[in-house]
Amino acid sequence: MLTKSLATTLVHVGRKKRYTQGSVNPVVQRASSLVFDSLADKKHATINRAKGELFYGRRGTLTHFALQDAMTELEGGAGCYLYPCGAAAVTNSILSFVGNGDHVLMTGAAYEPTQDFCNVVLKKLGVSTTFYDPMIGGEIADLVQPNTKVLFLEAPSSLTMEVADIPAIVSAVRNINPEIVIMIDNTWAAGVLFKALEYGIDISIQAGTKYLVGHSDVMIGTAVANARCWDQLREHSYLMGQMVDADSAYITIRGLRTLNIRLKQHEESSIKVAQWLAQQPEVKAVYHPALPSCPGNTFFKRDFSGSSGLFSFELKQKLTQQQLEVFMNYFELFTMAYSWGGFESLILYNQPEEVMKIRPNIQRKLEGTLIRIHIGLENVDDLIEDLSAGFKRLSQN
Ligand SMILES: *Cc1c(COP(=O)(O)O)cnc(C)c1O
Repeated sequence: MLTKSLATTLVHVGRKKRYTQGSVNPVVQRASSLVFDSLADKKHATINRAKGELFYGRRGTLTHFALQDAMTELEGGAGCYLYPCGAAAVTNSILSFVGNGDHVLMTGAAYEPTQDFCNVVLKKLGVSTTFYDPMIGGEIADLVQPNTKVLFLEAPSSLTMEVADIPAIVSAVRNINPEIVIMIDNTWAAGVLFKALEYGIDISIQAGTKYLVGHSDVMIGTAVANARCWDQLREHSYLMGQMVDADSAYITIRGLRTLNIRLKQHEESSIKVAQWLAQQPEVKAVYHPALPSCPGNTFFKRDFSGSSGLFSFELKQKLTQQQLEVFMNYFELFTMAYSWGGFESLILYNQPEEVMKIRPNIQRKLEGTLIRIHIGLENVDDLIEDLSAGFKRLSQN
């Protein structure tokens, strides 16, 4: 069989004849009810309802199956569950494997709503959480408890961008208890720049909202699991009523076709902007995983096949409210918005004390304002000019 490169795979995944029915793309099959021709058909569908047979809308239609097949192949798993957004993918993956009295090891630099979920919902269910420093490496062994059921990673971290030594963390935890379910929020790497399941991780989670969709217009979450965890993830998520509509699944499949070429451009432009920023007198440090100034850059170079377009940089000073207004409000190309991963460039800021508040148990000190940017598909020199004008506004105020 042909060994296919990522570019080729992305063009062809999820395009079985059964899903495309004579067209290039999978059909959009909108359905709650799926019709059985006979009792025998109904029986067959019931037996195979978790194995890609049409059964009931909540179990998915041909459109969902096409996306699930595609993601399963891309990330090398046993199956993929689809959720209405990335947050649902994170929370339902965790909930599928914990119960009262259990313990979760969570990176203290996780996406903020993921941390909040632990502190609010898991706590209420009697599940305790220990937040660990993403740079902890093998010393995570000291934090494993007899009741630890889930280890949750996110690399690079949200906002502060630390890249963990994932193999060291995974092997330390497995050595103590091989049963622990290891999950990663793999959104930054779009599930393809870091092949989580090849690193002994059980479940690779993504906010498909970001790079898979790529156009800032649809929300979806994906979780690809290995054979050990797939049945439990699927059945528990199903019981919790998780599903997504066929149109969103279709849009996500369409996003896959251009994912490789988009990521390449996000990578090239973001590195160029990061290198330019590193030379600006106002900038203290640039936290782009591909640059040595980002904590864990050596792990990034070892474990990731490329980079995407989201990173942050710290200014030398903490901007005053007035400076923030002057800097942030007048960009022509960078827009202020949450989310990222679309074709457009984005900018947001966080003051150091705000970031430190959501960094439990982490040895990291920020002093200046932290700016997070997503580098989109615009011409990179235009983007640099826009940022440059921002620094000029700062120096004149
Ligand atoms: C955006 C994001 C999520 C949540 O995704 P939604 O689709 O917005 O729910 C989860 N994790 C990370 C790292 C994200 O950036």
